[in-house]
Amino acid sequence: MVKTVGVIGGGQLARMMIPAALELGVSIRVLAEAESMSASMAASAVGDYRDLDTVLDFARTVDVVTFDHEHVPQPVLRALVEEGIPVHPGPDALQYAQDKLLMRQKLSELGVPVPDWAAVENPEQLDAFLMDHGGRAVVKTARGGYDGKGVRVIGGPTEADDWFAALAEDGNGGSLLVEELVDFRRELAQQVARRPSGDIVPWPVVETVQRDGICSEVVAPAPGAAGRVAELSEDVAFRIAEGLGVTGALAVELFETRDGRVLVNELAMRPHNSGHWTIDGSTTSQFEQHLRAVLDLPLGATGTLRPWSMMINVLGGPDGATMPDRYAEAMHEHPTAKFHSYQKESRPGRKVGHVTVCGDDLDEVAYQARGAAAFFDD
Ligand code: ADP
Repeated sequence: MVKTVGVIGGGQLARMMIPAALELGVSIRVLAEAESMSASMAASAVGDYRDLDTVLDFARTVDVVTFDHEHVPQPVLRALVEEGIPVHPGPDALQYAQDKLLMRQKLSELGVPVPDWAAVENPEQLDAFLMDHGGRAVVKTARGGYDGKGVRVIGGPTEADDWFAALAEDGNGGSLLVEELVDFRRELAQQVARRPSGDIVPWPVVETVQRDGICSEVVAPAPGAAGRVAELSEDVAFRIAEGLGVTGALAVELFETRDGRVLVNELAMRPHNSGHWTIDGSTTSQFEQHLRAVLDLPLGATGTLRPWSMMINVLGGPDGATMPDRYAEAMHEHPTAKFHSYQKESRPGRKVGHVTVCGDDLDEVAYQARGAAAFFDD
């Protein structure tokens, strides 16, 4: 019998699950936030993912519920589980991707290496942390941050006053997360997928480059990471997937420190920007693997098809145009590039698509990928 996967959220991650579902002959339905979302071609419902009735009505039409983002509130998720609807990842796991303080607490309990951190409720506590950490630190809001929003490097205890005030206004109290400012050599991401029955399959660890807190480039596999760094990264991701009971795709964002350690920064329990290269560069894409995992099907092999892949995000998009408007020139100049448009209007900083090039020589791959992506720059 054909199974139906229901995806909550109609962004580009849901969009990229659609071809994978079509190929597998799996039916896919999307609960989109608006008519004009990236995944609108599979949108069977439009509505608010925070509204219990909307989500329940949608979930009752599918065999398993999964996500394009981690913002569905816990009470809504728990109501689905109570109705007996399979939800992957489930609320017990997803809470750690929804709240950075909970995540830091849980990972520390599991003995997973993380930056030094504390929960702080006021500038005095923040000051104490700063004093212990050389006067500089990174402050984060526990919830609601993405693409670097809700992350601030500070050099004094009053530099998060607006966030403390916002927490007080909320009426629920609450704390900010403060962390040591990690002097990292580079950022890495380790992805795995886990089935409800427990099997886990990793992809090679990748290097990610962020600009202004937004992922801009990914190189797969991470250059020079074979051996110890790859082992550490995989080990951390396995411990998290098992320790938190994650089902589906898991991305672990990591800092590689100058003294050879690997520290966990962030978690995402869904397909992730650091894994877009897998569409063109791996035997099994993260979107196909996520569908297999949430349907509890055997996971696919994750080796690379070519020695190197580079993915470049198209951020902002061409002025007054869309990516496809520039295809003729870009495709003519860069026949090895694979173009992925999310059908979004251009807007500063917005992820409107990505370009991937795979090949044998990393310098050539990078030259082609950056050249192709540059056609969509302005
Ligand atoms: P978001 O959830 O908005 O993506 P992250 O927590 O991943 O936020 O932080 C965004 C970026 O900020 C990271 O990719 C990294 O470049 C930088 N960053 C975050 N935490 C730290 C830290 N403790 N030390 C140094 N840089 C950090």
